[in-house]
Amino acid sequence: MINIPKGTKDVLPEDAYKWHYLEKVIRKTAEDFGIREIRTPTFEHTELFLRGVGDTTDIVNKEMYTFLDKGERSITLKPEGTAGVARAYIENGLQELPQPLKMYYLTPVFRYERPQAGRLREHHQFGIEIYGSPSPYADAEVMLVAKTLFARLGLTEPVLNINSIGCPECRKSYNAALRSYLGDNISKMCPSCRERFDKNPLRILDCKEAGCKEITAAAPKTIDYLCDDCKTHFEELQSILTSSGVAFVVNPNIVRGLDYYTGTVFEFISSAIGAQGTVCGGGRYNNLVSDVGGKSAPAVGFGMGLERLLMILENLNLYLGEPEVPIIYLAPASRDDAGFAFVVANRLREAGVSADTDLLGRSLKSGMKYADKRGYKYVAVIGSEERESGMVKLKRMSDGAVTECGFDKIAEVLKCQK
Ligand code: ATP
Ligand code: MG
Repeated sequence: MINIPKGTKDVLPEDAYKWHYLEKVIRKTAEDFGIREIRTPTFEHTELFLRGVGDTTDIVNKEMYTFLDKGERSITLKPEGTAGVARAYIENGLQELPQPLKMYYLTPVFRYERPQAGRLREHHQFGIEIYGSPSPYADAEVMLVAKTLFARLGLTEPVLNINSIGCPECRKSYNAALRSYLGDNISKMCPSCRERFDKNPLRILDCKEAGCKEITAAAPKTIDYLCDDCKTHFEELQSILTSSGVAFVVNPNIVRGLDYYTGTVFEFISSAIGAQGTVCGGGRYNNLVSDVGGKSAPAVGFGMGLERLLMILENLNLYLGEPEVPIIYLAPASRDDAGFAFVVANRLREAGVSADTDLLGRSLKSGMKYADKRGYKYVAVIGSEERESGMVKLKRMSDGAVTECGFDKIAEVLKCQK
């Protein structure tokens, strides 16, 4: 017996409807904001993530699924959605289109992580990207997309936490302050943090090790080291959120796990699913496009973990759509009637009614039992009597009510009664 790889999940037919529901609400929400879908490949050249996401991040350092293909090219399965979109933006000349360009994606994401609740090796993300606008209104709009989606799904939380980690200019003075705060304590920190100390000290604040967290608890805050432009941007963002009725808290501990962020960063954090409570993380990344070889363009976006979102909805017993069951089961009265039932089922499908019939040579009794278990809304027996009279009895399973009609009218009757 071959098992499923660690950290991956099957979505079984009886649960698929929840994903369909979620995806439907997501697509509609994105469209209501004038955002169109972009689809990029599941794998990219490894170089893209090294340059885009950055080699001091956990994702790139420890979590990438990287391999050489048969042409000896280093290939990586997407560990996040943004870098591929930035590449597509540059490669397809999307910068020449009227800006800002608003895009969304739904994609599988692959990270070699230690599997636990809310942490998988393959998960799925819904993400938003707005390219070409440096305005805090774009930051606010991105957050509003997530908030609107949550509201449509019946969620009042997760709580929006925002912070600004500043631009490379502010980062210089902040890094100096952080290095001097850490001082000799750096020797007591984990090997990753010691490496980050020189390369990208800000990342030390995102370390999950308890010992490191203790040392950084009273570290300087990025918001105290913002340049005038970054400070104004962050203040404007807050006043836009306030006047749009979007509740938030300023949380100076949010720094995000990816190198490309500049300025605004944010997370939506839920208390409904335990330790892995961040369901959506995002921010501004004004240097990403130029980092991966394009003409500089400001950008802002988020990635939302769909398995975590589903967990929240399930834990709170919220609506997740309806199981998808065919409307009618045509039960052949005998084996001789199977061919005719097969034809009738097909006619119904052509008329847009989801219909099913026997594929196993079942007896009428066992066919009826099967129909009951599967939960069809209607069942009709197809036998010699029906074929001769041209009339069929549609039995509604919920209350046993029977409607009789000609074969050519079944679709019409069912469509009226649905
Ligand atoms: P974390 O701090 O939990 O590791 P992250 O900073 O790595 O999160 P992002 O890269 O911002 O997460 O990804 C966006 C969202 O995708 C997260 O907020 C989360 O909902 C989801 N996500 C990230 N990693 C996983 C995973 N391994 N399994 C399931 N969902 C995940
Ligand atoms: Mg992570």
